[in-house]
Formats: sequence, C-alpha cells, structure tokens
Amino acid sequence: MKLAWLLVLLPTALGRIVSRDSASSTCKHLEATYPDLTFFPLSPGYIKANTDFYTSSAWLGPACVFQPTDSRHLADAVLLLKNTSTPFAIRGGGHMPIANAANINSSGVLLSSFGLSQLKVSDDHSTVHVGPGNRWADVYKYLEPYGLSVVGGRLGVVGVPGYILGGGVAFFSNEYGWASANVVRFTGVLADGRVVTAKPNNEHADLFWALRGGGNSFALATDFELKTLRVPKVTVGMANYGFGVGEQFIRSVHDFATAGTKDPKAAVIPMAEYLPETGTVSYSAILFYNGNNATPAALQSFQKPTLTPLTNTFRYRSMNQWSQELDGAVGLLKGSRQRFYVLNIHASRKETIATVHDTFVEVAKTSLPIGVVVAAMAFPQVAEQYIHASTVNGGDPQDLDPDGAPYIWVEESITALAAVRDEDIDAFYTKVNGEIRQKLLADGVKLPEYTYLNDANPAQDSFGTFPPDNLARLRKIRARYDPDRVFTDLMPGGWKVS
Ligand SMILES: Cc1cc2nc3c(=O)[nH]c(=O)nc-3n(C[C@H](O)[C@H](O)[C@H](O)COP(=O)(O)OP(=O)(O)OC[C@H]3O[C@@H](n4cnc5c(N)ncnc54)[C@H](O)[C@@H]3O)c2cc1C
Repeated sequence: MKLAWLLVLLPTALGRIVSRDSASSTCKHLEATYPDLTFFPLSPGYIKANTDFYTSSAWLGPACVFQPTDSRHLADAVLLLKNTSTPFAIRGGGHMPIANAANINSSGVLLSSFGLSQLKVSDDHSTVHVGPGNRWADVYKYLEPYGLSVVGGRLGVVGVPGYILGGGVAFFSNEYGWASANVVRFTGVLADGRVVTAKPNNEHADLFWALRGGGNSFALATDFELKTLRVPKVTVGMANYGFGVGEQFIRSVHDFATAGTKDPKAAVIPMAEYLPETGTVSYSAILFYNGNNATPAALQSFQKPTLTPLTNTFRYRSMNQWSQELDGAVGLLKGSRQRFYVLNIHASRKETIATVHDTFVEVAKTSLPIGVVVAAMAFPQVAEQYIHASTVNGGDPQDLDPDGAPYIWVEESITALAAVRDEDIDAFYTKVNGEIRQKLLADGVKLPEYTYLNDANPAQDSFGTFPPDNLARLRKIRARYDPDRVFTDLMPGGWKVS
C-alpha cells in the first residue's frame, strides 16, 4: 500500500480503518439529499456548529455539519453514517468541556441539534415539548408569558440535551429531583433509524429509564416533553463577598448543606475562585429561593450578618430575567479553554470541606499551568429530598444513596487561555485531588462513590460509580436498542456505558 494512501487512513474506535474520503463522500451524499441542511467549512452554519462550544478545545473541524430540522432527517443521516461506517458526533448546547464529547475532527460528520429547536406548551400547560437545539435560556424565555418554569439548567447558556441525558442538577432539584425525573417522555432516533417515544409505561420504558442519566449511548434525542411548574418567578441572584472571608465561607457551606437544605425551596451555589494573577481567592454565591422571599431562614448562612455581600442581586424575578444577568458574562468566555473535575464529599463534616478548599488553594498557588486565568470550586448540595424526589416513574440509573446525604458535589473548573493544554490542566487535577484524597484518608474520611457525569473530567470513570446492577442493566438496554454499538463505537464522543 502506498504511503500517501496510508496517511489518509485513520483508525477508529471500531477497530476498523476508515478513510477521510469516507467522511467527505458521506458529506456529499448528505448534501445531495439535504443541500440546505449540510454545511461545509467556511460557511456560517459550519463555523457556528464547530465553534459555539464552551471550551475551545472542542473546535475540531468535522468534514461537514449536518443540521436536521426533523427526526426523519436525523434518522436518514444515522442510517447513512452507519451503512458507510462514517464516524460522527452529535452536539447540543456545547457545554460539556471535553474536546470530543460533542464534536469530531475531519474524519467524521458533526450532527448538530440546532435545527431541532421546537418549543410547545401543551393545551393544559402541564407540559412543554423542548427540542434539543434549545438552551435553557430559550426555554425560560418561551415559558415566561405563560407564568411557567421547568426543572432545568441553573444558567441559561447550558444546552438542554446533554444536561438532561446526564441527569441535570437544578435549583429546584431539592424539591423535584433531577431534571430528568421531570421528563414525561423522550423522543429519539435509534441506531436502526426508527424514531421512538419512550415513556415510563410504554414498550420503551427501559429506554426511558436509561435516558434519565445514562448519556448518549442509546438514542439521539429529538424531543423532550417536560413537566412544567406553575412558578412565574423565583428569588434568585448573585452575592459577592470579596476576599478574605474563607473561614466563614467554609462554615456557611457546611451550615447550609446540613441545615439550610431542610427547606427544599432553597438552593445555593457557593463559589471560591483562585486568581493566579493576584494570588487571591474571591468568594461568591448564587442564591435561590422558590418563593417571594429575599431573607428566608434557610439562606441565613449566606446573608448578612453571617456573610455580608459587598454586592447582591438576589431578588424576585423570572428564570428568563435571571438568565439574562449571567449569560452575557459566560458568553465572554468563548475562545477560552475550560475543563472540569468533580469531587463528591459528604457534607456532614465541616473539616472535610475545609480540607478540600485549603488544599485546592495551596496546590493552585504552586502547580497551576501558566495561562490559567481562574481556578474555581463550587460547592452545590444534593440533599436527601433530592434523592427521594428522583425516585418517581421507576427511578434512574444513578440511584443515589439517600443514607449518605447531604452530599456536596465539588465542581472544580479551570478557565485558561486557549493555548494551555488539557493534559497540563489534568496534571493539576491529578495532583490536587490526589493530595485531597490522601489528607481525607489520613483523617479516616471515606468519600462517596458516585461521580456526576456532566461535571466529570474524562479521567474519571463516572459509569464505574453507578450501582453495578444498574450498569449491567444499562448495557443490556444498549444491546437491545443498539446491538451494533453505533452510538458507542461509531460515535465515540461522550460518556459510554462500557
Ligand atoms: C457554564 C456551565 C453551567 C452548567 N450548569 C449546570 C447545571 O446547573 N446543572 C447541571 O447538571 N449541569 C450543569 N453544567 C454541566 C452540563 O450539564 C453539561 O455540560 C451538559 O453536557 C451540557 O449539555 P449540552 O447540550 O450543552 O452539551 P453538549 O456539549 O452539546 O453535549 C453533551 C453530551 O450530550 C450529547 N448530546 C448532545 N445532543 C444530543 C442529542 N440530541 N441526543 C443524544 N446525545 C446528545 C453529546 O454527544 C455529548 O456527549 C454546566 C456546564 C457549564 C459549562
């Protein structure tokens, strides 16, 4: 075989050999049938789908982008990709900060959910159909005139499909559970091209269960029917506490997680941000209350006089209005490199929270790669009611253990210049989390097993932390719906039940 020919051959996860030609000829087939839905490099549709990601490491440059506006188009594309063994990826809002989670390089085709952006409330307003091309801001904006909300993203910029298929943590979760516990039905395309609807009580009830947190290994979602909440407004906003309040912040994180969450209408995202430029840590919190109350007892630990904000936007308004407050700022991060790691801890012991916080800051001071702009930790809580509220309709594959609650899923996130390499960020995560684990082990602290898929680093084995019986059941469901492992091997990005 000639060397030039060898060079255009790329190994795939299938263990087969696929040529770049395969992707470009698949693109030509797609274009021939769907000229308006197939985008090539330099076209606006291609540039948006390839670059509208939270991390710039995901700008991988697919051979083309296919953007269906109907489930049938997507089904046609899936059959073509399968029959030509062309690798592919599917994207939603693009917020999973892992390079190939929702994009692919020129060896494959990127399926974009952007064209599936339907939003339709039911006649009795009890549910809403949401297409995977929406972000939560679109959903909140659409629902505002109806006086409704849904259990969805805490920030509007996040995409609907990845968030729900991974579970979905919401401000409302201590009352209503995972966002995915509030899905009435999923519609999606199977690997054999069938378009099916999965409900808790139809012949696809097993698929329904799998999609409540099992990720993208089973079907490509084309519609989510979500329960609505008759909640026109909530009290929500951002409190900034400035620098030098670390000790009280740690106490407040502990007190809210263990006592404040007893009122399930309250939620907080406490945040500590280490800024390498100045070597300082800035403290803030997003405060939430499902009601018209800016001083609920549950939130006392994050309000004056316990922790006095320097600035505070906590006020009664719609989720749409809230989305507008922060989404502009998050949008400014476009082009930066982002990477997550999640550490699950029991909230019961304040010293555990202190060890995580102090070790993170200590290691950040010496070991962050040059080019990191912010190294942040968030300390959101998962209370017992969250877990009980999620058991509706047959429960979910995560099946969290209520006995260990409340948990804090410490979300570590790095924002860096685009030139910083993912490997260098991961070296920091390995070091800092290794040290945290060592210290906790020395103190006799056992960490909970479960690792949340949507906040995990690629080095973390999220599915390995699911209950083993549920993992086995997920594999069986995959074998039923996708026996050729099309959505696992030909679509390698994202979390797979393997
Ligand atoms: C700023 C920010 C805020 C966040 N806030 C929250 C929060 O409040 N709560 C929370 O739980 N998580 C949160 N997350 C994490 C978030 O849930 C995940 O990043 C999630 O994957 C985002 O969904 P997406 O559609 O934007 O993702 P994408 O990156 O587009 O996709 C994620 C995964 O879903 C798959 N996928 C996309 N579309 C489809 C489809 N139509 N069918 C099948 N699979 C599909 C992709 O292949 C990929 O593997 C946040 C993340 C960021 C960056």
